Amino acid sequence: MSFRRFVGRAPLSRPILMILIVFAIGLIVASNVLQSLSFRTSSNALWIALLSAMVAQELLSAARPREIAMRVSGWLYAISAALFFVRSFAVATSDATVDPWSPDGPTPLMLLWWLCFTMGATLGMVLMASERLQKELDHQASHDPLTGALNRRALLMFAEKELARCRRNGQPLSVLMMDLDHFKAINDHFGHQGGDEFLCRFVSSSQRVLRTDDVFCRFGGEEFLALLPGITSEQALLVAERIRSAYRSEMENITTISLPFNATVSIGISQYRPEEEIDDVILRADTALYQAKANGRNRCELMEFCGAE
Ligand code: GH3
Ligand code: MG
Ligand code: MG
Repeated sequence: MSFRRFVGRAPLSRPILMILIVFAIGLIVASNVLQSLSFRTSSNALWIALLSAMVAQELLSAARPREIAMRVSGWLYAISAALFFVRSFAVATSDATVDPWSPDGPTPLMLLWWLCFTMGATLGMVLMASERLQKELDHQASHDPLTGALNRRALLMFAEKELARCRRNGQPLSVLMMDLDHFKAINDHFGHQGGDEFLCRFVSSSQRVLRTDDVFCRFGGEEFLALLPGITSEQALLVAERIRSAYRSEMENITTISLPFNATVSIGISQYRPEEEIDDVILRADTALYQAKANGRNRCELMEFCGAE
């Protein structure tokens, strides 16, 4: 149960839980009634094998590529499950009586394995928890807590990588600089919390129209930036228009009721030029955004068509 919770799955369904409980009670009752050491050894091994196999399945199917501790723990449980299945089967099918105190035979080996497994599993759980903590810290360091979008710091990291890739492959790369229009008035009208809701809705509507390769971040306040690898500024203009109309239709119902203007966004677009640094491309997108504001807001401007270019 706790493993399922750890990997973010719902608890086991009630019927499966009932089957497991009935099975466990059945084994306990049967070993007490039969008073057979072999049966008890075999059924205990079977029970451990079953639980280990279930844990192994949860961990191995949930482990992502960088979750090494989860993967190693999963395999540890899987090996344990296999060993205890074999042990259970061997004891159940053997005529020899089990002597738990005999130094020969598999019992001491199983005990040794159990000791190693317990230490390994404990260490694995500690490492899994620290892996999880590290992941959460990484997420907090790279994402904006309000909207869940990447933050500026993470964007700059991605940007360096994307720029290097585009330079290598000779592919284009475009930047969209976006700024919500009249946001101060939106805050004044709906309050700061209401304004926050607009920011979140903008992020979700934009992310719906972007591709998975695109990098979208909250650049600061009500400004957002998208990095579009592999596309020219003309193609980026189409993407920008999609973002603009997605936001507008997302907010239309709310704003027409209670605002004297629509909630809109202005977008500046620029395309990376050879030998430029990322700051230069962003600066040119910002100039195009400034132009979009000057031209009346709720529009997209291509840097290439701005007078400053
Ligand atoms: P323009 O159309 O020219 O962009 O006008 P504007 O009102 O959007 O621009 P301005 O820069 O004057 O105002 C931006 C406002 O965004 C001011 C600031 O209080 C608000 N803001 C910045 N960050 C947040 C935030 O996290 N939440 C909320 N609710 N408001 C924010
Ligand atoms: Mg602004
Ligand atoms: Mg603004």
